[in-house]
Amino acid sequence: MQFYLDGYRPGDPTVAEAHPSVAARPDGLPADCDVLIVGCGPAGLVLAAQLAAFPEIRTVLVDRRDGPLTVGQADGVACRTVEMFQAFGLANRLIDEAYQVNEVCFWQPDPADPSRITRVGRVDDVEEGISEMPHVIVNQARMLAYLLDYLERSAARLRPFYGMRVTGVRRDGDGVVVDVGDTTIRAKYVVGCDGARSAVRAAMGRELTGDAMNVAWGVMDVLAVTDFPDIRLKAAVQSAEHGSVLIIPREGGFLVRLYIELDGTAGVTPESLAAAANRILHPYTIDVRGVGWWSVYEIGQRLCDRFDDGEAGSPRMFIAGDACHTHSAKAGQGMNVSMADAWNLGWKLAAVLRGEARPELLHTYSAERQRVAAELIDFDRKFAGMFSARPADSGEEFRRYFVTQGRFTAGVATRYAPSMITADTAYQSLAEGFPVGMRFHSAPVVRLADAKPVHLGHAARADGVWRLYLFGDRGDTLQRVAASVASKDIDILAVFQQGHRELAVDEMPAALLPRKGRLGLIDYEKMFCPDPRGGDIFDLRGIDRDAGCMVVVRPDQYVAHVLPLTDVDELGVFLAGIRVDTTVQMETRPSTGRHDY
Ligand code: FAD
Repeated sequence: MQFYLDGYRPGDPTVAEAHPSVAARPDGLPADCDVLIVGCGPAGLVLAAQLAAFPEIRTVLVDRRDGPLTVGQADGVACRTVEMFQAFGLANRLIDEAYQVNEVCFWQPDPADPSRITRVGRVDDVEEGISEMPHVIVNQARMLAYLLDYLERSAARLRPFYGMRVTGVRRDGDGVVVDVGDTTIRAKYVVGCDGARSAVRAAMGRELTGDAMNVAWGVMDVLAVTDFPDIRLKAAVQSAEHGSVLIIPREGGFLVRLYIELDGTAGVTPESLAAAANRILHPYTIDVRGVGWWSVYEIGQRLCDRFDDGEAGSPRMFIAGDACHTHSAKAGQGMNVSMADAWNLGWKLAAVLRGEARPELLHTYSAERQRVAAELIDFDRKFAGMFSARPADSGEEFRRYFVTQGRFTAGVATRYAPSMITADTAYQSLAEGFPVGMRFHSAPVVRLADAKPVHLGHAARADGVWRLYLFGDRGDTLQRVAASVASKDIDILAVFQQGHRELAVDEMPAALLPRKGRLGLIDYEKMFCPDPRGGDIFDLRGIDRDAGCMVVVRPDQYVAHVLPLTDVDELGVFLAGIRVDTTVQMETRPSTGRHDY
């Protein structure tokens, strides 16, 4: 993390200086704003966190709840989501607090006595090397608390308005008029992060379609004493006659979540769920001594066919998260996919509002995320079906499916189709390990200036900035190219093939030592070398050592383009397809108050 760019300030450096607009903000709901976010669940708060990078954008958050969620709901945090939290500077806190899912066990009826369960398999939860981040479990309420804290520390000092229910939403010319509580707000854009019964979706005339039948699970976070040996491992347990339980150990070392599929929802109590768990786990017993939270979670696999109102022009209304897709909790995707929707949309809204990007950029949100959601629903239908099936039919197949779909559940299988922000794969052979359309897969490197081992992907913060990674050839082409790409208004990072002791910082071109901030200080954190201890990044990511390459990365860390190292013209053409004319941009672009780029 970089700070003190504009002068030394005592105190906690993670608390940004408040933007001047904060002091001028009204106490209550304003009459108008740039973006109105309806709903402060995972989708709404990630969207707000991304927009908070641009304090001049007037963002308003409302939620009908009286205050933040305090307990319950989702708990699975996929590797990709932890990567995203890293970009917001929140990963360390999350990892410290969370349970880390390392292995998964499978239990089935013992063939010798099917009334008893026996362990039939134990596999790694996450395939080695697919992410530098772990798969973790933490209460959704805690995830939201980290994000609320982030908003509070941001220059925008964003704070949700709780107890505010949205009752009406209508498009009005170049904006949207929204009835909130007993007032009306006019917004340039409205984003419905308002869950499965979304009012914004209804106002857009859209609906969730799919399975008519809801499946119900009893969910219970318990403190219990048990002789079941795998209670601190994720365990999928299928009994012969009494159904299934999914055991998810929770943060803190003692708490455990039990998911129990139900035949019906009538008469379900924590006691009846505990009794069902005991029947399934026989001959083991579980003595529930405390219930932290419990619920009957009833949901079908449903999807909306479009996530915006942009059929006939520029979209002004969007939906994200459960407002667009619902699915079972079995694969632990709900919160993750919802937050990924929001990140995808956040930087695009900011770029258009700041006059940097063409408004057509906003169409890519629905196009990209609707497809991801459709894949998720297909996956979930199969996964949840296998979990519920009688073990004799699908035990082995379920285990195999779990392993083969690991990249999907880790959130790293998403691949966006070619569009104005995702190029074709003509030069993919220059960097096979950075597939165009997929998230930039980080790898260990050593920072040249201070010899610090770091992860290259962690240089990409959630700041709405496009990045250009220059991977050097065997000669000095990178140094020569750096000067010519400096005019492209993109954050340039250089990765050399040489070891960090073989290169001299003071011989590097100015483009790799950019001057920043009020004091014109030098940013020394743009140059990297392989870290032999973690594997050479050129080998790990299949980078052509003779030719080198350029890798263009979107603000949400997805690879947009791979290009020859010298193809600066092609880079310019690609960026021009996204951005508005730079001369116009310079005139209309407001000051951001950001100092890091
Ligand atoms: P949500 O988290 O649903 O947030 C929507 C927000 O919008 C809410 O805060 C709501 O108060 C607000 N809102 C709604 N309508 C309005 C309105 N008209 N005006 C203003 N505000 C509004 N997933 C799991 O994986 N495991 C679980 O055990 C599990 N249990 C769940 C239990 C419940 C009761 C619910 C509701 C969900 C559960 N989920 C679970 C799903 C998981 O929580 C969601 O996938 C995830 O929260 C989706 O995030 P979201 O931001 O899209 O929507």
